[in-house]
Amino acid sequence: MSTAIVWLRQDLRLADNPALYHACKTCANVILIFIDDPLPGSVSRLGAASQVWLHHSLQALDASLQAAGNRLTLRQGSALPVLQALLAETGATHVYWNRVYDPASLARDKQIKEILKQSCTVHSFNASLLNEPWEVLKADGTPYKVFTPFWKAMLKHGIQHLPLPAPEQIPAPTSFPRSLALNELGLLPRTHWDTGMMAHWPAGETAAMQKLLDFLPLGGADYKNARNFPAQHGTAQLSPHLHFGEISPRQAVYHTEAFLAEHPAAESGLRHFIQEIGWREFAWYLLYHFPHTVDQALDERFKHFPWAEDYVENLEHWRRGQTGYPIIDAGMRELWQTGWMHNRVRMIVASLLTKNLLIPWQEGENWFRDTLVDADLASNVLGWQWTAGCGADAAPYFRIFNPILQSQKFDPEGEYIRRWVPELRARDNKQIHLPRELGDGLTDYPLPIVDFKASRERALAMFEQIKGPF
Ligand code: FAD
Repeated sequence: MSTAIVWLRQDLRLADNPALYHACKTCANVILIFIDDPLPGSVSRLGAASQVWLHHSLQALDASLQAAGNRLTLRQGSALPVLQALLAETGATHVYWNRVYDPASLARDKQIKEILKQSCTVHSFNASLLNEPWEVLKADGTPYKVFTPFWKAMLKHGIQHLPLPAPEQIPAPTSFPRSLALNELGLLPRTHWDTGMMAHWPAGETAAMQKLLDFLPLGGADYKNARNFPAQHGTAQLSPHLHFGEISPRQAVYHTEAFLAEHPAAESGLRHFIQEIGWREFAWYLLYHFPHTVDQALDERFKHFPWAEDYVENLEHWRRGQTGYPIIDAGMRELWQTGWMHNRVRMIVASLLTKNLLIPWQEGENWFRDTLVDADLASNVLGWQWTAGCGADAAPYFRIFNPILQSQKFDPEGEYIRRWVPELRARDNKQIHLPRELGDGLTDYPLPIVDFKASRERALAMFEQIKGPF
């Protein structure tokens, strides 16, 4: 009677889960384990908001497994000894997992594979990307650094595999191994600040698929335009589900294509949606090929960029949504309260931090990592380096988002600002976008922490200094 261990990580789903699928096809008993292994520098080192999500996601997964007659084993510690102990306890002969592509996890998993292969068979699969990062390269064998040619090459290469179904049976062992209770992982905060945040989100595989299926007919056709307006629910809000692998990018693309086959009028909107999933793919591709970008700029000229030195106070105002720029404060408060922020606003707040306040992008990346439920090493690093102008295919250094113009254009009625900045609700649609002025009688909203025009000029002058061949 062969027994398989399926080591779950960022693939918290039953459908389109190759490791689980093949384990169930091959072995008579299947044991599923999630190991809380906070490996430094890896995707498993989660911020506070993501830990809360993980708790709920594991709970949902265990409920699905129990409904299928199996269950999830939870353990804590360094992955290799935990797996070795489980192999010894259960007599398992096969270990299955789906790959995780951050540099620290790749190095750890390589080592684990080499060691475990001495005593059992180890099988690893791709379950979180459309294609393996090494499959799509330029003609000269080097990786792409610009999105459009990358995406063209990816589409030409094709998205090879159809999503797999959930296994028909997940054969349970005669006795389950010892497991920690979910609460013992300590993922939930003691002060219950998470209740409001999770009211915005049901976690888990069923919710993820439902969200996609609801989005396609409601938002799909108008996505290309609606995705820019933060007051609208114009995007799919799939990012935390994709991050934890409650849904795979292949499932998302497959269901979108199936919808398009029936609704060709949605072509322009949904083709753009698939392309955004391509940006997620590009983020992981870049991190795979340029692993140092986890915390260093891809553009080496930024090694000597003269970031501000004394920025603690400004950073705190930015984090708390107290910059005096209404659209920025709305975004930072949306993030604090829901664990998510609209993409356009992410770009505006990141531009103010890195370009007007000259605070290193890593500070913003850190704060996002701690507060986003979708905090994703690759997409976060890409988003921050793109906005700061120091990454692959980055916004040119002279693009400095003007928070007032952005606000007037993408939140014309001030609906988004009113939702998150109650102090400004009484302002009219013109005033709502503007920073407070000294002596305007409004005292419960801060004055702007930086003059936009002057700080823009200062940033441009600094970028001039490091300009040169890359
Ligand atoms: P939709 O518009 O519905 O897009 C569908 C999916 O495509 C998303 O769920 C996401 O997986 C992917 N996607 C869309 N836009 C991007 C993008 N620009 N880059 C990479 N993938 C994208 N995304 C994260 O998932 N995690 C992060 O930590 C993260 N940090 C960011 C930081 C900054 C400074 C910026 C500018 C962007 C960041 N993004 C991040 C990208 C983007 O903002 C989110 O993916 C998007 O807002 C998620 O909302 P959605 O699911 O409704 O997106």
